[in-house]
Amino acid sequence: MKWRTQITDLEAYVPGKTIDEVKKQFGLDSIVKLASNENPFGYSPKVDEVLKNFHASFTLYPDGYATRLREEMAAFLGVSEKQLIFANGTDELIQIVSRSLLEPGKNTVMAAPTFSQYRHNAVIEGAEVREVPLKGGRHDLDAMLEQIDENTAIVWICSPNNPTGTYTTEKELTAFLDRVPEEVLVFLDEAYGEYVVADDYYDSLQLFRKYSNLIVSRTFSKIYGLASFRVGYGIANEAVIRGLEPVRPPFNTNVLGQMAAMAAIKDQDFIRECREKNRRGLQQFYDFCGRAGLFYYPSQTNFILIDFKCDSDKVFQFLLRHGYIVRSGKPLGFPTSVRVTVGTEEQNNGVIQKMGAFL
Ligand code: PMP
Repeated sequence: MKWRTQITDLEAYVPGKTIDEVKKQFGLDSIVKLASNENPFGYSPKVDEVLKNFHASFTLYPDGYATRLREEMAAFLGVSEKQLIFANGTDELIQIVSRSLLEPGKNTVMAAPTFSQYRHNAVIEGAEVREVPLKGGRHDLDAMLEQIDENTAIVWICSPNNPTGTYTTEKELTAFLDRVPEEVLVFLDEAYGEYVVADDYYDSLQLFRKYSNLIVSRTFSKIYGLASFRVGYGIANEAVIRGLEPVRPPFNTNVLGQMAAMAAIKDQDFIRECREKNRRGLQQFYDFCGRAGLFYYPSQTNFILIDFKCDSDKVFQFLLRHGYIVRSGKPLGFPTSVRVTVGTEEQNNGVIQKMGAFL
């Protein structure tokens, strides 16, 4: 057998320590996980109501086309049902898009550092990966354009970007899209889009109508607080969706996830509230960094990357011992920073106090 992992540098996903393991190891009563950018406020109570009253067979396969969720999302977004594709999280959408367009001989352009799964899937498909360093923590779209040639199949834009929290402005994005050849698919990952408050952010629902080679991805894992249900979706012109649908596994979203997502989308007050609380939470971190003289990128997401100017694993280990799981920047391409999810006010105060103690 000749495994892809033997001909590439691919490694299996290694889960972090569980909360129980960390508790036991350090003799702690409670642990706060601020490592994976989930919503610290959970999800809308409307989701619980729907799930409590939910009666359906778990024996039958789910509706593989997510018909009801599709109808409701199309109405909510103001798009047609044929302009949507649902996936088992954005992770799977990235996989579907990569499988649909990448192969040996093709290349794909992305920023670095950015979300790991674009590169991971390109390597699996045997495509050449062209990584363009961030400039001032932001996508360098001019340099990315220069990397596009006749063999380029996909360009990935993560906006806001993970792990920096930075975003691309409307002006920058449209100038870029105007110059990308039509045969190249632009994948715009908006996993954190609902957190953005910047005035010069774009409206991707308008952009995909103008640019037929644009696919926008969104998720229920972040501000909607439903990471465990694994529901993500793509919005694109019908021809793009038609190209992707045959590659999508038939029953990729499950019945509970579909129901939960439908209920969650109906509670936009909850989403607004989370966005506002997140802004206040970010301010707690900005104030701390200001006081401590630490560099950070202003964030449009529910996480912040803070530079401690020392080995990021040391900060990570210190915080872990004190009951806070954050993300060490080393595997993310920022070896002296840690990425912290913005939590509740109390959680933020707690982790900030420990970060102060580290210094
Ligand atoms: N894109 C980005 C930028 C992310 O940060 C994440 C989650 N870490 C994902 C996609 C994957 O999200 P999902 O849960 O929808 O698969």
